[in-house]
Amino acid sequence: GAYLTAIDAANPSLNAYVAVTPDKALEMAKASDEKLMQGQGGTLEGIPLGIKDLFATKGVHTQAASHILDGFKPEYESTVTANLWRDGAVMLGKLNMDEFAMGSSNETSYYGPVVSPFRAEGSNAKLVPGGSSGGSAAAVSAWLCAAATATDTGGSIRQPAAFTGTVGIKPTYGRCSRWGTVAFASSLDQAGPIARTVEDAAMMMTSMSGFDVKDSTSVDLAVPDFAAAVERGVKGLVIGVPREYRMDGMPVEIEKLWSQGLEWLKAEGATVRDISLPHTKYALPAYYIVAPAEASSNLARYDGVKYGLRVSGKDITDMYELTRAAGFGREVKRRIMIGTYVLSAGYFDAFYVKAQKVRTLIKKDFEDAFNDGVDAILTPATPSAAFGIGDEALAADPVAMYLNDVFTVTVNMAGLPGIAVPAGKDAAGLPLGLQLIGKPFDEETLFAAARVIE
Ligand code: GLN
Repeated sequence: GAYLTAIDAANPSLNAYVAVTPDKALEMAKASDEKLMQGQGGTLEGIPLGIKDLFATKGVHTQAASHILDGFKPEYESTVTANLWRDGAVMLGKLNMDEFAMGSSNETSYYGPVVSPFRAEGSNAKLVPGGSSGGSAAAVSAWLCAAATATDTGGSIRQPAAFTGTVGIKPTYGRCSRWGTVAFASSLDQAGPIARTVEDAAMMMTSMSGFDVKDSTSVDLAVPDFAAAVERGVKGLVIGVPREYRMDGMPVEIEKLWSQGLEWLKAEGATVRDISLPHTKYALPAYYIVAPAEASSNLARYDGVKYGLRVSGKDITDMYELTRAAGFGREVKRRIMIGTYVLSAGYFDAFYVKAQKVRTLIKKDFEDAFNDGVDAILTPATPSAAFGIGDEALAADPVAMYLNDVFTVTVNMAGLPGIAVPAGKDAAGLPLGLQLIGKPFDEETLFAAARVIE
């Protein structure tokens, strides 16, 4: 009830929810109350969650913030959300995002940008909450839900978490099922939670995770109780500091925060070690080949026949073209064009195959560090604090926007888990986050180390 009232009051200015489901919320909450009264109930019984619009929710608005999915209400429930309902969580509604999760500012949404609840001191300018899970991050930080689902293909959980002072974890690839989540780049996409504390994130992730026969890339491994790992501490852990992440022009505040984070970990008994991840600089360009390539293939299904929008034409080809021209926004079209270009016969080896080779090298950099005894790696989460909505320099230069992802895409390329944790503020009072990167399926160490920093 309280969350629904808060949504009514704040959503018109924040634009975090694209659909609110009060009837469903009240019905689910009532069922939870009854269970709790009988001393029953799951690990998340009665906890009100926001769901990113990328997750299929049966009979409920699911449009990936795109015009092309107009009116789409799936007949099925994504595995991740089904797991959350199984454990008693309550759905408040669907959260805004970049269209098809393509973006770093939530400005590519068909429903318009999400406004961050934060302002720089002494300024009233509206800031972005980050993207693509901007609605999730804004709703969590503004108390419009207890926690939210999100997805991360190249930073879309961690960058918005860093911009809004929340905790976001991208699990190891394969930890959560992708079934029923609208696909962007299938070899990189992972679901995960955004929450206000490390402990909340851990509890929610335990519920979201697990093997699913409907996703052949989900991994058949027992799901630990992640919340039990939160207070484990960092005594004896070796924390790697990759020298390639010290970028020229990085704000001093971020440098300082990074050193501060290392001090906090050392004070709790961790050892810090300089490491090298030599292929880091190739990660971003390789990501922006692999991700659009997979996207162009995944998005071929939106043809005006199967889902959502249809714009009639003189024949079927004309209908396809008119539907896709009207249904996709500019950034999505840019990705489809890049993707089809790098996959086309003449360029496949030069771009796509090359990017896949680079991906293998990036993965090996991390493997070498972990084989050398490193337990987790600490880096900044983003190269800056949140920027303004409608930033002209970024709008004019898509590559500058892509630079937001420098510290996060490497993790998706290697399939590793990564957590963003709030660590401080910049001079204008805006939240800044640090990122911890872990070994495959060792999210527990990340939760423990993030708890020391939060
Ligand atoms: N910002 C990146 C992109 O636009 C990452 C998006 C994501 O992780 N979904 O591709």
